[in-house]
Amino acid sequence: MGEDYPRTILELERRFATEEACREYLQKLRWPEGFVCPRCGGDAAWSASRGRLVCRACRHQTSATAGTIFHDARKPLVLWFRAVWCVTNQKNGASAASLQQALGLGSYQTAWTWLHKLRRAMVRPGRDQLHGTVEVDETFVGGESPHGGAWIEKKALVAVAAEEDGHGIGRIRLATVPDKSRTSLGRFVKEAIVPGSIVHTDGGGGYGSLEKLGYRHRPTVVGWRTPEAASQLLPRVHRVASLLKRWLLGTHQGAVSAEHLDYYLDEFTFRFNRRSSRSRGKLFHRLLQQAVQLPPTPYRQMIGGRPEKA
Ligand SMILES: [Zn+2]
Repeated sequence: MGEDYPRTILELERRFATEEACREYLQKLRWPEGFVCPRCGGDAAWSASRGRLVCRACRHQTSATAGTIFHDARKPLVLWFRAVWCVTNQKNGASAASLQQALGLGSYQTAWTWLHKLRRAMVRPGRDQLHGTVEVDETFVGGESPHGGAWIEKKALVAVAAEEDGHGIGRIRLATVPDKSRTSLGRFVKEAIVPGSIVHTDGGGGYGSLEKLGYRHRPTVVGWRTPEAASQLLPRVHRVASLLKRWLLGTHQGAVSAEHLDYYLDEFTFRFNRRSSRSRGKLFHRLLQQAVQLPPTPYRQMIGGRPEKA
């Protein structure tokens, strides 16, 4: 069912009008080759109530939503599907306030939690690593807003990796890092980039162990490091960093706290890496597909704090 998705809001409304229709779609995304029992590997099941599937061999009960962000959802899948549509069909994504309004959700916190759950499904750690020639640098996000006043209360250091694609940018990866040490930047590169790739950085000491980690390191050292010189050396990461900052200030009005910044980085990455997708419906399909392959994140485990105000 690779290319099976709604093209318009009307198609979405018609096709996913019932829980059964939504569940059936998720089942196909979760088991594209047909049902496989997570316990015994059996390939036959019968359907029980509330979307449960019972393995014919071992009687284990599961469902398309078991273990995913939709697990135990008290809200109907029909509503979740509309949330995914909202998030994937706006060029710059949805804020919690706009999602709450669009879906008629009673609480801002519900909308905020849903967006964070969906963001977690946007980037799959350890998969989709970058390769080829990749620029890497760090940038500070937050602190002073160009419009005056602080937006992210304290500055956060964000590592940026961008594939070279001719003169353009291929895929990207972003993550917050605690500092510019070899340990922190080395860990970021290991998670983001396939070993053996060429990694292009400035002459910063934090990248000193990349050869040891299995990369072909191409540091460019300049004697005078001005912002202008840096953006010419590593034009792709600087372009990505400036788009990221514009997005955080625009769509989210800077209402992002440093502790939750990684979720927003994941959403930005998901959008950026699929920016050439001709169909928004394709993003809808892809996000649901990734969501049914993800373990659940209870609200308390996810945040350790309150939702930001927006
Ligand atoms: Zn089984």
